[in-house]
Amino acid sequence: MRTGQISVQSENIFPIIKKFLYTDQEIFIRELVSNAVDATKKIQTLNRIGEASGNLGELKVEVKIDDKKKTLTISDYGVGMTEEEIEKYITQLAFSGATEFVEKWKDKDPEQMIGHFGLGFYSAFMVAKEVTIISKSFKKDAEVVKWNCDGTTSYSMDKAKRKRRGTDIILHLTDEDSETYLSQWKIKELLRKYCRFLPIPIEFEGETINNPDPLWKKKPSELNTEDYTKFFEELYPMQEAPLFHIHINTDFPFNLNGVLYFPKINQALDNRKDRVQLYSNQVFVTEDVKDVLPEFLVLLQGVVDSPDIPLNVSRSALQSDSNVKKITAHISKKVSDKLQEIFKADREEYQNKWEYLDLIVKYGMLSDEKFADRMKDYCLVKTTEEKLYTIEEWINHCKTNQTDKNDETIILYTTDIKAQHMSIKAAQNAGYEVVVLEGPLDVHFAGFAEGKFEKVKFKGVDSAPINQLIEKDETIESVLSKEQQEELEKVVKSLVNEASFDIKIESLPPQQDFISIHKNEWERRMEEYAKMGQSMPFGDLGMNKKTLVVNSNSEVASNTLNKAAEEQSNYIQHFLDIALLEKGLLAGNDLERFIQKVKNSIN
Ligand code: ADP
Ligand code: MG
Repeated sequence: MRTGQISVQSENIFPIIKKFLYTDQEIFIRELVSNAVDATKKIQTLNRIGEASGNLGELKVEVKIDDKKKTLTISDYGVGMTEEEIEKYITQLAFSGATEFVEKWKDKDPEQMIGHFGLGFYSAFMVAKEVTIISKSFKKDAEVVKWNCDGTTSYSMDKAKRKRRGTDIILHLTDEDSETYLSQWKIKELLRKYCRFLPIPIEFEGETINNPDPLWKKKPSELNTEDYTKFFEELYPMQEAPLFHIHINTDFPFNLNGVLYFPKINQALDNRKDRVQLYSNQVFVTEDVKDVLPEFLVLLQGVVDSPDIPLNVSRSALQSDSNVKKITAHISKKVSDKLQEIFKADREEYQNKWEYLDLIVKYGMLSDEKFADRMKDYCLVKTTEEKLYTIEEWINHCKTNQTDKNDETIILYTTDIKAQHMSIKAAQNAGYEVVVLEGPLDVHFAGFAEGKFEKVKFKGVDSAPINQLIEKDETIESVLSKEQQEELEKVVKSLVNEASFDIKIESLPPQQDFISIHKNEWERRMEEYAKMGQSMPFGDLGMNKKTLVVNSNSEVASNTLNKAAEEQSNYIQHFLDIALLEKGLLAGNDLERFIQKVKNSIN
């Protein structure tokens, strides 16, 4: 037996490794199993090129728990290591790698790290107090060697016994970690998480826990729809089948494989676990793909696998990485290509699926300029009659009827068909048509679309009195004199809380409502920005304030002024109540008073 010293400045880097990566301790299993897989793939390659001859025997990686000895062992039948190789790759190289890693990341927030690749073999010391390697190299007449290190900077090297070529990595667990990592259930869970698609069979408790040949590595031409559906079920059991998939298969100029699914879900997957998974050469890296993939992919599901995504760097470095940028652009292009393809091949099918595509397409357009340009003619709007049009088609459809005095086509929309029923009816009676923008991004999207299509404005159907929705060049004479209007205003103001309403006395067509309440377009957009958590350009000022329009040309206005002072309030209150009721704003004492009044009116 021979002993040696690991040459590092720090007395003992293991406590640092352990403490520092505490939250992500479990990745040691990924590192050790993928080393075993690498060693196995190496022997396959050597065998293929004739450098390692003979029958390789069964190739698999075994993971075993020994309760009594408190060990966790990872064994492979790969290339193995000679004494010199252990010295070189483990004691020197891997160690210096680990030291460098710790140095580099010591001051950083662990949250910033994705992957932690590069720590490799030494991650074993995050959970083990002592690590033993027993290895037999494939090289002719290689002796079996045993390396042992107890977590200090000294190690020993010795002879040992092992029948077949390959390596055992034996972790002697610390008391505190043995409970977790000697649990069969836990190890199985970790293997399922990190090693589920590793390319060599991984055996645990006599059971193969991985699928070494995952679908995304196969050629699309060899697969049918059912294969994709099956794989989806494998990834996300108990979920409704997806709408369709995109198979990405690129070698140049970067390496990218993956299958993306459009799920049958029409709200954000934000807080759910079933998201797109990122792999690097079939090793699971993360489900937190934000900043790595196009932002809107949080709405999709599936797998993306690329060894060209740097994994041991911070998020900000990732975002500016040129490979990541290219990969992101590539995926975004693939998604738009697929959507265009379906639209062109079978518009009806596209429309049938629109309910689920809606949010993804709009999210994509809002967050990715190029995607927006490609999808501009494939983004649909739904009318209150449930008909679907592209935006361009819709503009052409309503141009004649809905173009205002500034030559702008006004797209009228409702954010809530039921609540805005009366406004929609009024618009329809005026010969207008209304589209439905009920989704969480829709009002945002309206603002965005105004920038993409010329001479188009979106307006909430309840944002103004009907004759002001699509403004025409016409002046309406006032029925009342200026003094009469002022008198009317005084009475209204005595009944309305001016903190909640902007009161406007206007001369509208006589047949329009005497009092109507509106949320003007600007207010609605500001409110939506606030909902999205964006800071508002002008502070909270005027937020949630609605506009109360009094039509002084209405017959009711003249009637009011003809009444005795004490009757005026009651009279106006009645119309005020109706306007409030229409907008769902009648509540509390006002609601009680109104209901009482309606009850009494029947007798
Ligand atoms: P990396 O895998 O990135 O090279 P590691 O620290 O994980 O870094 O491993 C260091 C080296 O130790 C490997 O490159 C390999 O040469 C050797 N090694 C580790 N585990 C095994 C194993 N099970 N069989 C053969 N060689 C191994
Ligand atoms: Mg490794």
